[in-house]
Amino acid sequence: MIKNREFQELMNSLQDLTPYQRSQLADLLQRIEHVEADNGLIENRLPTKPVCPKCGHDHIARWGKASGLQRYRCASCHVTFNKQR
Ligand SMILES: [Zn+2]
Repeated sequence: MIKNREFQELMNSLQDLTPYQRSQLADLLQRIEHVEADNGLIENRLPTKPVCPKCGHDHIARWGKASGLQRYRCASCHVTFNKQR
């Protein structure tokens, strides 16, 4: 498990990525999320299971944060959205 401080440095460095590098990173994260989803880990670590506001699909992956809010991405239609309350 990576330390919070190291994670912050990682997040900061991500802001300097080129659009191509970001797309590469997005692909990598998506593959990782799919592996974890196959293992059933996503359901276990989400306190409330979000569903896609667009298509209602419940195969949702974490998708970074925006303005301090956890964002999610639908694996079905690829729309991104903030955590629902
Ligand atoms: Zn969707």
